[in-house]
Amino acid sequence: MDMTQKAEIGLIGLGVMGSNLALNIAEKGHRIAVFNRTTARLGPFMREAGALADRIVPCETIEALAEAIRPPRPIIVMVQAGAAVDEQIRHLKPVLSRNDIIIDAGNANFHDTRRRFAELEGSGLTFIGMGVSGGEEGARHGPSIMVGGTSESYDRIEPTLTAISAKYEGEACSAWLGPDGAGHFVKTIHNGIEYADMQMIAEIYGMLRDGLGMQAKEIGAVFARWNEGRLNSFLIEITAKVLAADDPQTGRPVVDVILDRAGQKGTGKWSAIEAQTLGVPATAIEAAVAARVISSMKTERLAAEAAYGPATAGRVSKDIVDDLELALFAGKIAAYAQGFAVMAAASKEFGWNLPMPTIAKIWRAGCIIRSQFLGRIAEAFDRDSGVANLLMAPDFVAMMKEASPALRRVVAVSAEAGLPAPALSSALAYFDGYRQGRGTSNLIQAQRDFFGAHGFERIDADGAHHGPWSG
Ligand code: NAP
Repeated sequence: MDMTQKAEIGLIGLGVMGSNLALNIAEKGHRIAVFNRTTARLGPFMREAGALADRIVPCETIEALAEAIRPPRPIIVMVQAGAAVDEQIRHLKPVLSRNDIIIDAGNANFHDTRRRFAELEGSGLTFIGMGVSGGEEGARHGPSIMVGGTSESYDRIEPTLTAISAKYEGEACSAWLGPDGAGHFVKTIHNGIEYADMQMIAEIYGMLRDGLGMQAKEIGAVFARWNEGRLNSFLIEITAKVLAADDPQTGRPVVDVILDRAGQKGTGKWSAIEAQTLGVPATAIEAAVAARVISSMKTERLAAEAAYGPATAGRVSKDIVDDLELALFAGKIAAYAQGFAVMAAASKEFGWNLPMPTIAKIWRAGCIIRSQFLGRIAEAFDRDSGVANLLMAPDFVAMMKEASPALRRVVAVSAEAGLPAPALSSALAYFDGYRQGRGTSNLIQAQRDFFGAHGFERIDADGAHHGPWSG
């Protein structure tokens, strides 16, 4: 093949994300070579590509893929996370040459990314771990892209990533965030925050549906109204649309025929695990993960409802509706504060020097948690990137002072009514714990010293002390 005809970039994995990403890359004028394990996928993909097919080279083997790309080759691997990525790297290694870059764009666990990075060190090949958010639509028309690896390797693919990424007021939502696992870590926390956001929205939906007895379409209208205000975001927008949609088979609102059992692929759980490992409370994210687990226990839940009786729902006053909007906003502030605190701790632990304002900026468009609110977070970090916790940024203090009383009322009402609000209530508990100058752990310390002689600090003297316990 003539060098000028060779592709600039390659992509392995023509699933939902890979095929859309490939079309996005071709549309931005880049010649791309593609390969998929199941080669039968190539034909339909090329037909789907339409006029863009001119810039796409379909390859039946990994060898052909390598041959079709101009060295040094950047190759995006967009396959199922886990063993499939290692398998593709194994196949790629013998056909690649010095300075080629393998870019894992799936939702990898950042520990795997660090391992792969280390394994490829010294091989002449470079590894990049790249988080991509935005689902199918984002991949096709502009995702948010979070890159981890060496800055030199990022510089080589930066023009392509900038071209294909979402834009927020002209700024590309793609950035190099740090070495090795930094990009995949940030993507994981993005998803953890997404879990919390979605769970809190679902809890508010529960208050409207079960507490106030509202129908799906009425609830959708409430979310549509909220989307015009401070809650303006992709997730609120799609919630309104989802609630307005009818099921073609039954004519009923589609949400009413969907089984209440949520799936999960791991990024929420990983966020919670990493938060725990780093010693950072991320209670809203943990609650959201646990809520998905409880949702999966459908048979047990039905049996428990029969044993205990249903919630005393339907007794909630309509006055709560305005509080719900503010409560959701307060819960969101707490959840994002937790997510950013986890990233700050990981940045320290792994020496990544994560750029917090940049992270908030590249999440303003393209990704699933995109919102106006992220603009406020970016401004707060721009003013003070070292702020200990988002809850301490001056603008957020003001916002939380305004919104937290509503969160308190909503959590109280949901508890009274027996309607579960695990993410909202844990967000409130986190806030209350965080802003309590004198907590109650003096008692915990006393208990620990009593049964385990662990010692305690005193408020009036340095050093370790023991209590006057006996018996
Ligand atoms: P998908 O539609 O299920 O496609 C999976 C792709 O992985 C297919 O091309 C499949 O090839 C390939 N694959 C699976 N096992 C393989 C193996 N052992 N060796 C080689 N190829 C293998 O998945 P997707 O939604 O595009 O997701 C791809 C990655 O992006 C995942 O890491 C996912 O978590 C991440 N992601 C997804 C989304 C989303 O909204 N869907 C958003 C962000 C990130 P075959 O055709 O041969 O099966």
